Amino acid sequence: MRLKPFKRMQVWDACSDALITFDKEGMEDMGYIIENDVITAALTCQLDALSDRVKVLYRSRAVGYTWPAPYSSAEGSPFVKIHLADGQSLHTRLLIGADGQNSTVRTAAGINNIQWSYNHVAVVATLQLSESTENNVAWQRFLPTGPIALLPLSDTWSSLVWSTSPDHASELLRMDDESFVDAVNSAFVSQFPPCDNHVAQAKLASFFLSFTVE
Ligand SMILES: Cc1cc2nc3c(=O)[nH]c(=O)nc-3n(C[C@H](O)[C@H](O)[C@H](O)COP(=O)(O)OP(=O)(O)OC[C@H]3O[C@@H](n4cnc5c(N)ncnc54)[C@H](O)[C@@H]3O)c2cc1C
Repeated sequence: MRLKPFKRMQVWDACSDALITFDKEGMEDMGYIIENDVITAALTCQLDALSDRVKVLYRSRAVGYTWPAPYSSAEGSPFVKIHLADGQSLHTRLLIGADGQNSTVRTAAGINNIQWSYNHVAVVATLQLSESTENNVAWQRFLPTGPIALLPLSDTWSSLVWSTSPDHASELLRMDDESFVDAVNSAFVSQFPPCDNHVAQAKLASFFLSFTVE
C-alpha cells in the first residue's frame, strides 16, 4: 500500500537563496502522502459501513437538472430533479455541486466563474528511488518555468508533480527514462540565474511564509 507519513517539508527557489522548511522534530508526523486509490478504498469502506443510511450510485453521471418551480406557483415544489445518464432520475431538497472545475451544477444554476490560463501543464509520474531511504521529506522547488514537487509514497517510491510550460512538458514526455531521470535530478539541484518572474515567485513565497506563521 502506498502511503507515507512525512516529517519535513522543504520549499525553495531555484533563482535565489529563498528557502523555507517546515520541521516537526520530535513531534507527530507532519502529514501523509496517500495515493488516490488508497483514499478512495478507505472512503468506500466507510461508506459500506453506512449502507443503511447512505446509498452510493457508482459509475453514475448526472446529465441535467430540473430546478423546482417557485412555491408561489401551482407546481411549487422543494425538490430538484437530477437526471442521470442511465435514464434514472433523483429528487432532492439539497443539491451540493461538488463536481469539479467544470461543474455542471454550477453551469445549470447559472453561476458565473472566471478562469484564466496559466500556460502550464503538470507532468505527473511515480518514481522509484535508486535505493531505499527513510524518504520522509516533501520537496518542492520553484523553477523559472514553474514548481516541481517530489512527495514520498514509500521508502522506495515518490510521486512527482512537475508544472512547466506546455513545450517543456512535451519535451519531458518524449524523453527516454534515463534522460527524464537526469532532467528531474537536475531540476532539483541546478542553480539558475535570477529570472524575470522571480519577483512574482518571491511574492508567492512570502505569502506562503506569512500564511504558515499565522
Ligand atoms: C497533478 C495535480 C496536482 C495537484 N496538487 C495540488 C496540491 O498540491 N494542492 C492543492 O490544494 N491542490 C492540488 N491540486 C488541485 C486539486 O486536486 C483540486 O483542486 C481538487 O481535487 C478539486 O476538488 P473538487 O472536489 O472540487 O473536484 P474533483 O476532485 O475534480 O472532484 C469532482 C468529482 O465530481 C465527479 N463529477 C464531475 N462531473 C460529474 C457528473 N456530471 N456526474 C457525476 N459526477 C461528476 C468527478 O468524477 C469527480 O469525482 C492538484 C491537481 C492536480 C491535477
